[in-house]
Amino acid sequence: MGQFESFPLFEQEGHRFVMLGWEEKEEGVAIQTNQYIIFSGDEAVLLDPGGAHVFPRVLANVAEIADIKKIRHIFYSHQDPDVVSGITMWLSMAEKATAHISGLWVRFLPHFGVYDTKRISPIPDKGQTLTLASGKNLIAVPSHFLHSTGCFSLYDVSAKILFSGDIGAAVFPAGKRYMSVNDFNEHVKYMQAFHRRYMACNAACRSWVRQVASLDIECIAPQHGALIQGKENVRKFLAWFEGLRCGTDILEEFYAR
Ligand code: FE
Repeated sequence: MGQFESFPLFEQEGHRFVMLGWEEKEEGVAIQTNQYIIFSGDEAVLLDPGGAHVFPRVLANVAEIADIKKIRHIFYSHQDPDVVSGITMWLSMAEKATAHISGLWVRFLPHFGVYDTKRISPIPDKGQTLTLASGKNLIAVPSHFLHSTGCFSLYDVSAKILFSGDIGAAVFPAGKRYMSVNDFNEHVKYMQAFHRRYMACNAACRSWVRQVASLDIECIAPQHGALIQGKENVRKFLAWFEGLRCGTDILEEFYAR
């Protein structure tokens, strides 16, 4: 079983966007997940760090490259278990961190064991900008209904990387995983089934594309599957997603006759 190292996707003037490594044995039992960490000045921001299934590995990945105490923010794209179920472990390890999640989900967090909501910052429906101590901005872009009712992507303005949560997720058959999309048309087959079933409807897809189209994006970094790197692949992905029929558009497909 292989192990894959963390590697930087962007690095400039004290600002770094790193994809954390993973272990092959994680795959198969549970949906494979990607985690990312942003370093800026003296702070670190962890993105969708996940639950118990990956906690020891993610903690080891982070500890290898950062002082856990420097994690000041933890961004959660939505409330799913593969995103947020490790929240109590992370808040106790990263004692100075604030967790950011859609305001819709804050009152559900006690069910994960979070009773002190002082360390939770609810993200309003229309999104918000998080300015780090370094002066760099991270923008929480609404991605509601894609797939969660309260859901956000996170755009790193300096790195030009859009962390897209479940949008752009790919589910690979065993042994087929690759890190970055090479041939977009070939890649679609690994995204199709997931998006058609999990995403709410084409109207939601179009609203999201309309917002992110104004951003200067070099890379879309999803929580599952492969990185979509380079302007051409980003453009192809947005065009595919904008035209996607999914969820309630094809509702009858999900009901037996
Ligand atoms: Fe999800």
